[in-house]
Amino acid sequence: MQQLQDLQNPELLATAQDYSEDETTDRDSGLYRAEYVMSFVEKWDELIDWEARARSEGKFFIQMLQALGANRVLDVACGTGFHSVQLMQAGFDVTSADGSAAMVAKAFENGKKHGLILKTVQADWRWLTRDIVGTYDAVVCLGNSFTHLHDEADRRRALAEFYSVLGPDGVLILDQRNYDSILDDGFSTQHKYYYCGEQVTAEPEYVDEGLTRFRYTFPDESVYHLNMFPLRKNYTRRLIGEAGFQAIKTYGDFKETYQESDPDFFIHVANKA
Ligand code: SAM
Repeated sequence: MQQLQDLQNPELLATAQDYSEDETTDRDSGLYRAEYVMSFVEKWDELIDWEARARSEGKFFIQMLQALGANRVLDVACGTGFHSVQLMQAGFDVTSADGSAAMVAKAFENGKKHGLILKTVQADWRWLTRDIVGTYDAVVCLGNSFTHLHDEADRRRALAEFYSVLGPDGVLILDQRNYDSILDDGFSTQHKYYYCGEQVTAEPEYVDEGLTRFRYTFPDESVYHLNMFPLRKNYTRRLIGEAGFQAIKTYGDFKETYQESDPDFFIHVANKA
């Protein structure tokens, strides 16, 4: 029994999020692994209606990847597998990576529910090439994931890793929340974000230039948090450019033209060459 426990992944056994007494001091790029405890992952996935999410995103990513002629796609933040499943169903050759053991386990389970065997890998972006071999036509980092990196050096390291796993004509697609609007419009006028319907309420509980702490409230009144770095749009674009990517195009809520403060999400599309 003891031996079995030793073999079990402690990340999969953690049941509660565990922040410091002053949670706003928790600003480490490795924090995400303790934040995505299994109960949060399970609850999240139970409530997020994949069909509603697919409807709200439309075929944006599929069409973009098809237009770019991509086949081999690395989903570096696969989470519970939503985009990996969508992309596999659309015919792409997808590898599904995530640094969280709970997420990778859930993604694999969700793949099976859709009749698919996902090629899953547990890999942290900062050391992606330790676990990922070969090159890809596209790297996708979606669902406001890049925001989990709290240090600039880690952001640069991750982008360099994304760059290095792409073939010469490869493309990076990375999205983020519109933090400019959260930072500039202030705490009192913040938007309330409803993630695919009205079941999960996500709202910023604390905001400064170095931290956005989001509170997620579920219908059973259980509450979870995520500490994230508020990426300003032009800052992300600059980092992507400085990592060597070319021709960075930023969409707002899937549209090419938008008022800066309007979109909830920005999607950056950048070419390696
Ligand atoms: N893309 C999924 C979606 O849209 O549903 C998941 C989004 S979730 C907000 C962010 C994901 O990024 C989590 O699954 C988390 O484990 C992963 N993540 C955060 N930091 C990471 C890192 N340094 N390396 C690998 N994965 C990371």
